[in-house]
Amino acid sequence: MAAKIPTFSPFSLNTKTKSSKSKLHVNKLTIIASKSTHPSIAGRKLRAAVIGGGPAGSSTAEALAAGGVETFLFERNPPSAAKPCGGAIPLCMLDEFSIPLHLVDRHVTRMRIFSPSNIAVDFGKTLKSNEFIAMLRREVLDSFLRSRAASAGATVISALVTAVDLPPSPTAPYTIHYTVQNTYRRRLAVDVVIGADGANSRVAKSIGAGDYTCAIAFQERIRLPDEKMAHYENLAEMYVGNDVSPDFYGWVFPKCDHVAVGTGTVRSKQGIKLLQRGIRDRVRDKINGGKLIKVEAHPIPEHPRPVRVRGRVALVGDAAGYVTKCSGEGIYFAAKSGRVCGNAVVKASEGGLKMIDEHDLRREYLKIWDGEYTSMFRFLDLLQRVFYGSNAAKEALVELCGDEYVQRMTFESYLYKKLAKGRVLDDAKMVMNTIGSLVKCNILGRKMEGLII
Ligand SMILES: Cc1cc2nc3c(=O)[nH]c(=O)nc-3n(C[C@H](O)[C@H](O)[C@H](O)COP(=O)(O)OP(=O)(O)OC[C@H]3O[C@@H](n4cnc5c(N)ncnc54)[C@H](O)[C@@H]3O)c2cc1C
Repeated sequence: MAAKIPTFSPFSLNTKTKSSKSKLHVNKLTIIASKSTHPSIAGRKLRAAVIGGGPAGSSTAEALAAGGVETFLFERNPPSAAKPCGGAIPLCMLDEFSIPLHLVDRHVTRMRIFSPSNIAVDFGKTLKSNEFIAMLRREVLDSFLRSRAASAGATVISALVTAVDLPPSPTAPYTIHYTVQNTYRRRLAVDVVIGADGANSRVAKSIGAGDYTCAIAFQERIRLPDEKMAHYENLAEMYVGNDVSPDFYGWVFPKCDHVAVGTGTVRSKQGIKLLQRGIRDRVRDKINGGKLIKVEAHPIPEHPRPVRVRGRVALVGDAAGYVTKCSGEGIYFAAKSGRVCGNAVVKASEGGLKMIDEHDLRREYLKIWDGEYTSMFRFLDLLQRVFYGSNAAKEALVELCGDEYVQRMTFESYLYKKLAKGRVLDDAKMVMNTIGSLVKCNILGRKMEGLII
């Protein structure tokens, strides 16, 4: 944990411009310093506060600290606390974020999707022998990523951030107010603030970043008798139908010694408990005899916030609103946005040697992020609007999931986080099948006018 935490000392910022010719290698980035119009921070390192120690915050802090920025990572919860989450991550995340295999509870190689009329389709037939969806417990993943940020040089502060004061001038410091052990109030002056504090982000509020629509997700952890747990050895289930959600899906995800049974919705938040009863009813025989060990609920953002960067503050992960529609997936995007943002600050500050500004964050973070992921998020938004709208559309969705080509494209996109490249003939066939299924379910004409992205 924290070794030396500086007390409040608003450092003075020298406003003279400075040009440097030093060459640094930071996180595989080669930085050649050039003439700069930014104020100098001669004699010290750029100082950043990262608020929130989930996947977004830890990945940001790791990138910042490894790149030479003086980094403070604030987390209010103890390591044993688990963020409410299904804990499913794509295969590519293990490699990209060097997550050791022993942290993975389950290798899911079979995915079964159930239609409103309970027709089941097996959805993992095209997976190769080395491919799987990794299921982890969030307390395990988050602790690991947090301690890696500390090993990279970040100071982890176990505290609740209560407020962020904005600077009175463009080069003055931000002030982070925080409370340690629910008792001691402290302040810290920083140059840069990263809001990685999740869907209820205090940092977003402090910069007036605007609101986003949220879904609410509800989940019960149920410990099953061994013979029932065996059914979920390497199997995850998804249930669609208005009984489990009008606009999302219900799930059963296997964990180390229990299953997570949950559902989510935007349209019917008041009725979430009724919907949870719906998913419980659907899986009744499979969870009978199980012991309820935890009940949890949390908002899931539906789209990015109107503002994600303001001044020297940037939002990442759920705070920014990076969760895909359709699947409700956000862990990978949290970690990835944190890394992109951390590297952006490192690059713009030339390894922590100079001040940055809003333009730097827009150019090095937002532009790169949006270039990489906007079309994927829009595509999944479109799919959700087509297929989650009614029970008829959900029947069509499950029918389509039986198609091997659809399965291959879906899994490749999910596991490797790239929109998979298709074959022209197969793509045409898939479009025809989609239209066929929608026509069969009598929904095509009624829906098309609503599908402009
Ligand atoms: C029920 C449910 C199931 C889900 N299942 C999946 C799934 O299977 N796969 C998937 O990819 N995604 C899933 N998601 C989405 C996923 O959980 C989020 O997208 C992801 O956690 C975002 O990570 P983050 O680091 O941005 O935010 P968070 O994980 O929310 O982390 C924010 C951190 O900030 C800390 N914090 C907040 N405020 C303060 C403060 N003031 N001071 C100090 N610390 C603070 C919090 O304690 C927390 O640790 C699910 C979500 C829910 C609700």
